[in-house]
Amino acid sequence: MISRRSFIGGTAGFAASLTLANPVHGQNRRTRLILLGTGGGPRPRKESSGSAQVIVSNGVAYVIDCGDGVARQFATAGVPLTALRHIFLTHQHSDHNADYGNLIWLAWASGLSTRVDAWGPPPLEQMTKLFFQMNAYDIDTRIANEGRVPLAPLVHVHELRAGGEVMRDENVRVTAALVDHPPVVPAFGYRFDAPDRSIVISGDTTPSDNLITLAKGADVLVHSVLYVPAVDRLLARVPNASTLKASIIAHQTSAEDAGRVAQAAGVKTLVLSHLVPADDPMVTERMWIDAARTHFRGTVIVGRDLLEI
Ligand SMILES: [Zn+2]
Repeated sequence: MISRRSFIGGTAGFAASLTLANPVHGQNRRTRLILLGTGGGPRPRKESSGSAQVIVSNGVAYVIDCGDGVARQFATAGVPLTALRHIFLTHQHSDHNADYGNLIWLAWASGLSTRVDAWGPPPLEQMTKLFFQMNAYDIDTRIANEGRVPLAPLVHVHELRAGGEVMRDENVRVTAALVDHPPVVPAFGYRFDAPDRSIVISGDTTPSDNLITLAKGADVLVHSVLYVPAVDRLLARVPNASTLKASIIAHQTSAEDAGRVAQAAGVKTLVLSHLVPADDPMVTERMWIDAARTHFRGTVIVGRDLLEI
């Protein structure tokens, strides 16, 4: 059971639903999407975990991004860590990769003994190798004392440098597209086509034509968003405000533009996530939805940690 809290702006204009521990959507679907962390930026917060999503299909977990707390969020969502099979990183920024190694390591410590494939931009290979080196003491101790299988040979890393088909198996076909998140290059969005639904995760990007192409006709688009009027309040709390403001506005997508992208792609549902600011009580769910609905006529959902869509 997953605790869920959602405000959904539907075709009727605005409809709100507040549901706790009652997964109405997704329960009978074969392919589940759970938002594990919906806050944007690396600063740990009380209200939301670092950027991460999991798609679960036939008991196999496909994780997209590994922000702070991802392993814990797996447990809270009730997804067994031993279901971990594929990890896709959108880009190498700490709010998306801080717990990449930890997720694999702690899944293994929880009993994972099967193959994991990790996909993402360089230097993923080196990061993985160094992570295992850094934690060799614990890993070797557990192999010797607890009879666990060696960890490093389970993990197969695939560095991605261009868009296109990433992988396919019996549950999903995964396609990547380059998105625009300078100075982090490359940065990817991913599309997951399952027999019952298609799901696109934008990663961090400015409004992206590649993403519109990738998301054409998808059922669900999870898009990172910025609420521009609140950025000054967000930055009043940090020392490097002016540089950070320019960086945030230049490298992210406003909620209005996310709606534009969703409309151009013709997706059915737009999920706002990687919310910036993540924890400004003056920015209400209604404000996020109204901004996204300026240009989008489908359903808008404001992402919340552990929401299943
Ligand atoms: Zn980010």
